[in-house]
Amino acid sequence: MARLNTFPVSVAVKGRRIVIVGGDEEALAKARLAAKTSAEVVLFAHEFEADFSGLDVTLVARSVEPDDFANAALAFVADHGPEGARALKLAREAGVPVNEVDVPENCDFFTPAIVDRAPISIAISSEGDAPVLARLVRAKIEAMFSPRLGDIARLAGSMRDKVAALLSDGVARRRYYEALVTAPGIEGALAAGEGEARADALLAEHAGAASGNGLVWLIGAGPGAEDLLTLRAQRLLQEADVIVHDQLVPSAVVEMGRRDADRISVGKAKGHHSFSQAQINTLIVRLAGEGKKVARLKSGDPMVFGRAGEEIAALRKAGIDYSIVPGVTSALAAAADTATPVTLRKVSSGFVFATAHGADNSDLAHWASLAQSGLTLGLYMGKSIAGQVAGDLMAQGLSGAVPVGIVVNAGRADKTLYAGTVGGLASGAIDFADGPAIIFIGEAVAEGDWAQAEAIAAQVERVA
Ligand code: SAH
Repeated sequence: MARLNTFPVSVAVKGRRIVIVGGDEEALAKARLAAKTSAEVVLFAHEFEADFSGLDVTLVARSVEPDDFANAALAFVADHGPEGARALKLAREAGVPVNEVDVPENCDFFTPAIVDRAPISIAISSEGDAPVLARLVRAKIEAMFSPRLGDIARLAGSMRDKVAALLSDGVARRRYYEALVTAPGIEGALAAGEGEARADALLAEHAGAASGNGLVWLIGAGPGAEDLLTLRAQRLLQEADVIVHDQLVPSAVVEMGRRDADRISVGKAKGHHSFSQAQINTLIVRLAGEGKKVARLKSGDPMVFGRAGEEIAALRKAGIDYSIVPGVTSALAAAADTATPVTLRKVSSGFVFATAHGADNSDLAHWASLAQSGLTLGLYMGKSIAGQVAGDLMAQGLSGAVPVGIVVNAGRADKTLYAGTVGGLASGAIDFADGPAIIFIGEAVAEGDWAQAEAIAAQVERVA
């Protein structure tokens, strides 16, 4: 195992000073960093070339002197000439740890990449080996936490005495803090200046019930690519005690949850026990009723063909808190994959999400007229009956010349595209690739980029 050559610590700077020597862009970068703290930040240089306006720092236009290091917690040297060399020497004589910017051999300490959610800070250091990687790690961590994490931490801190007075049991206190930092709407409440009222109300509930209330987040996981998940979804997955997911949600997304969270697959896949909708409703109500935070993870967007309506009704009936996190629905992922504008000036004035599964003649007549009038249809759950639906739409008056585009596994690396016309689709069975599919029908399809698509050709005359 490689050992660290640096030891991460947080340096107390409150009431102290950070000295920076230099006046160019390097000095500015360090000044920005230092100005995030409450330290007095003082720069020394004969000339200040960079633009320091708007930063709460003091500029002193002379060489740094020994006395300037009194009460300094840290020093940065962003001058690689004689002034800098002198400053290094003075800092060392004063016993102040010093960092000569980008000169590791002259550094007593290094500045890590920082995720700043004051009072919480997360430092990522690569000991100078791969700053790019450290920044990538930071970007991932940034995405994991609400921008208001710091406010939430401060709110929790301010509740400490009240919580200690009302909740004697350690477990009850932990449950309260967990509920507070993950409460739906807590960020909005903080933004509206109602954070404390909210925290008090929650405390009253906890003191009364003496056990945390569960809740359910209905979360859209997007079409299957991990990086099409929203930041909020990712964050809530980290907070959930239980993740109840559909089969279509890829395991990489399910894995994003806490390691110790329970995971329950309720999906319908061959060889798996699958839950009925009524069983799923009962399950999430029961889990939340036990005080758990439940992430109900659905593919795409939860409100689109996700049976969210039934789950919401069950939660409302049981009086359980819930909130909904949108996701990228598969039809819009398919539109992105094929650069198909589902609405387009003068071509398509609207977009219809519909399910081919279970459609009756009046549905088909309705859609045929919408598509004929220029709207784009995006049909879900229609792959196995695609040819039949195309034929039925023609029977209801849709022209066989209207373009069709089909995307199997939209939003994923293994997507497969098919393009042709309604007439072509109706005329023969296609051996589609495995996976869920979106069927687009409408003139706007012709405006997309279907160059990689397999042709849906009219194979035989359709026999009436
Ligand atoms: N809530 C989901 C839809 C669930 S219904 C959403 O918003 O996308 C299941 C149907 O969604 C499938 O039959 C298929 O039509 C579509 N679907 C889901 N994931 C898909 C994907 N990656 N590519 C294409 N279609 C997909």
